[in-house]
Amino acid sequence: MTRALFIIDVQNDFTEGGALGVDGGAAVAAGVSSLLERHPEAYDVVFASRDWHDGANDNCGHFATDAAPDFVDTWPAHCVSGTSGADYHPDLVTDGIDVHIRKGQGVPAYSIFEGTTEDGETVAELLTARGVTTIDIVGIATDYCVRASALDAVEHGQHVRVLTDLVAGVAAESSAAALAELAHAGVEITASDAADAADAADAVPDDSASTPAD
Ligand SMILES: [Zn+2]
Repeated sequence: MTRALFIIDVQNDFTEGGALGVDGGAAVAAGVSSLLERHPEAYDVVFASRDWHDGANDNCGHFATDAAPDFVDTWPAHCVSGTSGADYHPDLVTDGIDVHIRKGQGVPAYSIFEGTTEDGETVAELLTARGVTTIDIVGIATDYCVRASALDAVEHGQHVRVLTDLVAGVAAESSAAALAELAHAGVEITASDAADAADAADAVPDDSASTPAD
């Protein structure tokens, strides 16, 4: 089994104090760093996505310009490429990230599968090339980019888990609806201690347990 982690949009603009700050976003950043610190070998490949919009246009209607944002299809300007708002949250330790994905240049893009690396490689290509079969998903926001990324991962044929203590949503009601929809689509909805248990199961058994008595 080849296991990947998707860290979705843990960026300054999506965390407390950002242009589109989500409650619990900073805690997600710290929690994901803790997960990777506890289990440095748990994931064969770690992907992280960033919303990476144009600053000179409305990104095909994604940014509200003529009216107030509806927080469903239109949003305050956020995650403009090259600004601090588009940076990873400082509590996200980025050393363990293998693949950096950018999405949303000039268009709305909720799923990590809509993005590419700087070299233009797609997520689907990279998953196939590395033989990934299982993906854990964490990040922001549960009801938008986490949801869309998880649905696309299922579509790609992956076994998918969303780690519920390491996601944060725009609104409680739509986040609960998103998790229910994902469960219906075959996504396992679980807490990050499931990752702890899986890591322990993968570990080589302790030799002392089989040492014969004198
Ligand atoms: Zn966006």
